Amino acid sequence: MGKIFYRYNSHTLTYERINLSVGQRIMNIFRHLLTGIVIGVGLFFILNYLIDSPLEKQLKRENKLLTAQYEVLSHRIEQNQKVLDDLQQRDDQLYRSILNAEPIPLSVRQQGFGGSNRYEHLLDMPNSELIISTTKKLDRMTKELYVQSNSYDELISLIKTKEERMNSIPAIRPLSAKDMKGLSSGFGMRLHPLWGVFRFHSGVDLNANAGSPIHATGDGTVEEVGWQGGYGNCVTINHGFGYKTLYGHCRDLLVKKGQKVKRGQKIATVGMTGDASGNHVHYEVIVRGQHDNPSKYFFMDLTPEEYDEMMFISENR
Ligand SMILES: [Zn+2]
Repeated sequence: MGKIFYRYNSHTLTYERINLSVGQRIMNIFRHLLTGIVIGVGLFFILNYLIDSPLEKQLKRENKLLTAQYEVLSHRIEQNQKVLDDLQQRDDQLYRSILNAEPIPLSVRQQGFGGSNRYEHLLDMPNSELIISTTKKLDRMTKELYVQSNSYDELISLIKTKEERMNSIPAIRPLSAKDMKGLSSGFGMRLHPLWGVFRFHSGVDLNANAGSPIHATGDGTVEEVGWQGGYGNCVTINHGFGYKTLYGHCRDLLVKKGQKVKRGQKIATVGMTGDASGNHVHYEVIVRGQHDNPSKYFFMDLTPEEYDEMMFISENR
């Protein structure tokens, strides 16, 4: 049922009924529709852009929370980096220094940073600055941890070598305390007991009864064993790391050339073979081809006082 329209006629002063054509009616309908659409679209934009939906409100809250958490994480990464910096510093200045290893240069510790395209995919994110700076910090820490872990591996192998070195360097007397009857001749220039002339004495002479055991003073390999001129029956041990020891005037020889020996192992017995005026072991320490005072290498056996006394005697007799 269509609406009935009237128009006021000012000439006849009456309302006249208008009969609208179908076209006019359709146009009317369109006009109403258009008004409706314009109002609808307007309301949509107002609701959409000015008033948040509950979901949007929730997402914004969540986003705020995530940003705050990201900031906390970023701060914690910084704190962990400080701990790592401290570990690196101790590694360079203490551990590596103790084991005679060079400090790791900063260029190695921090290499592989600064690739500018690395974080490009993060650029179009909201909060990209916070995300990129946090990612950078984490990347740096990961890399530095890797270098630090390698450094510790290297130190472990150095410690093992050091342990081997500690076991190899001559560090005890070749005679046990109960067998030793004193030092009859020290290291250096001295009057030769048989020939009565001043000569360089390249070792120390330690007195003991004939047959007392002579011990290897460090781990090593027997390099020479047998008669050696004035030394008589003699054993030479190569300890590696530049160290050799020699034991002269022995009565019995108990090792073979090429044999591996351990510190403290019995290698010969005391005698007076070769140029000797009494039963004693002539003991030498040779460091990279140079004779050194063997008394310096008795440190594992002695208290500091005993060591001082030994050094005094060995240098003054
Ligand atoms: Zn001697």
